[in-house]
Amino acid sequence: MQQIKTFFLNCGYFCQKRAVVRLAVVFCLCGAFAAHFFLPFAQPETVSAAKTQGPGTAQTGVGGGGYPEKTALEGQQETDLSLEAGVLEPESFSKPQMLLYNSYAIQKNDMIGDLAINFGLNEDTLISINNIKNTRLIQIGQVLRIPNQDGIFYTVKNNDTLETIAQKYKSDATAIQLANELFSDTAHSGTVLFIPGGRLDWTERQEINGDLFIWPVAGYITSPYGYRRWPFGGNARQFHSGLDIGSPTGTPVRAAMSGRVSSVGWDDVLGNFAVISHHSGYRTMYGHMSTVRVKSGAYVGTGERIGDVGSTGLSTGPHLHFTVYKNGITVNPRTLMK
Ligand SMILES: [Zn+2]
Repeated sequence: MQQIKTFFLNCGYFCQKRAVVRLAVVFCLCGAFAAHFFLPFAQPETVSAAKTQGPGTAQTGVGGGGYPEKTALEGQQETDLSLEAGVLEPESFSKPQMLLYNSYAIQKNDMIGDLAINFGLNEDTLISINNIKNTRLIQIGQVLRIPNQDGIFYTVKNNDTLETIAQKYKSDATAIQLANELFSDTAHSGTVLFIPGGRLDWTERQEINGDLFIWPVAGYITSPYGYRRWPFGGNARQFHSGLDIGSPTGTPVRAAMSGRVSSVGWDDVLGNFAVISHHSGYRTMYGHMSTVRVKSGAYVGTGERIGDVGSTGLSTGPHLHFTVYKNGITVNPRTLMK
C-alpha cells in the first residue's frame, strides 16, 4: 500500500515537471490527430450499422472510409460485435525511426522503474541508454537521456553482423540500420549500436537492480568490503575481499545463487571453505564454516544449505566470510544483494 501511495505521489510530483507538460501537450495533439482521422470509424453509427447489418459487414480498414469485408467471424451466430469495431493502427506509427533523445534531470524520490512508466519506455531502455550500473545509486540532478523508442546499447563484437545482432535481440536489421543512421549493413567491431526493441539479459538486470544474490546467512555485517584496519592488532591496513556477516555458530549457510560447487577445503586463514561457480563468470566463496555440507562437483540451488556458520581459520568469532568474484576479480557483494 505504501508503495502504491509513494508511486502516485511520485507521479504527481513528476507530472508537474515541464518536460512532462510538454510531452502531455504532444500527446494531446496526437489525440486530436488520431481523433480527426479515426473518429469516423469509432462513431456510434458505425457500430450500430454493424449491429443492424450483422456479422461480416462491419467497417474495417485504415483511412479512406471503410468497406464491407468478410471476416473470420462470418457465419458465427453469436458474435461480440465490439471486436469488429477496431481499426488497424497505421503501419507508419510503428515503423523504424531514427534515435532521438530528450533529457530529464532526476528529482527527489525518482525511481528508474517509475520514470520508465512515465515516459512510456521499459526500464531496460533507461538503464542501458544512461549506462546505469546500479539503479539504487542514481543521484538527484543527474541528467538522463530519454530516447524516443525502446532499445538498448550494444557493443559490436568480432564476427557480428546486423543480422546476427538483430536475431540475438529479436530486433530487425533495417531498424538497427535506421536507428543508428548507418549507410551500410556492416557493423565494425567496437562500435556501439542502439538496438531497437532490445532487452537486457537476466543477469544484467539482476546486477543493475542489485539483487543477483540472496544473503548467504541471516545476520549483520561486522566488516564490509574494502580497506580496513587489520583486525588482529596494529595499524596495518588490509583489503578485505568480502563481507563478514556475524551470526551464531551452526546457523545455516546458503548458496547465494544456484551453481556448481567448484571446491571445498581447508585454508589456514579461511578455515573450512566452499566455492561455488555460477553463470556469467561469477564465483562465490564462503569461509570460516564449522561444517561444510556439500561435496565438490555438486550442483546447488539458490538458498540450498551448503554448511554452518563457524569460526574456523583466522577468525575473531563466529561469522561467515563471503566473497564474490566476477571473472576472477573480487567485487563488493553488497552491490549485488538486496
Ligand atoms: Zn572476512
